[in-house]
Amino acid sequence: MNAPTAATAAAGRLRPLVTERGSSGFFSAAAAGEIALLTCGDCGRRIHLPRPRCVYCASTAVTWTPAPRTGTVYSHTVVEHQVHPLFPTPYTVIVVDLDGEADGVRLIGNLPGRADVTAGTPVRCTFEDLGADAAGNPVVLPVWEVDTARAAAAGGAQ
Ligand SMILES: [Zn+2]
Repeated sequence: MNAPTAATAAAGRLRPLVTERGSSGFFSAAAAGEIALLTCGDCGRRIHLPRPRCVYCASTAVTWTPAPRTGTVYSHTVVEHQVHPLFPTPYTVIVVDLDGEADGVRLIGNLPGRADVTAGTPVRCTFEDLGADAAGNPVVLPVWEVDTARAAAAGGAQ
């Protein structure tokens, strides 16, 4: 187990690299309060996981475009074994089916503790500001939470 660096320990969180070519658009959108997915400008399909060209038509005209901030839990698991000091256990890893995404886009997230979720539990995205990185770029993470209003409307406390 690696000890956190002073910078990450001060923040109490691990920070992703937000300037990598393959994912910078995702993090730029998060800093603006949006979820964005790579989308093909020629065939219109989502390219997830991000690639420099469309996996359906091979176009290189790919751009980051907004995606829904709501979804449902596709699957989940509770992590009980701590593997990093900045990820205290237990926590619940969720796989989220984004609402309205024809290509079956799924994002990974987590919820604190042993979350009371099951397949189909509605969730929504909020954002956590982790401050700026050493170069001054904003570091904002999408964070999922159970959408209690939609869960209640669906007829059950989830
Ligand atoms: Zn395409």
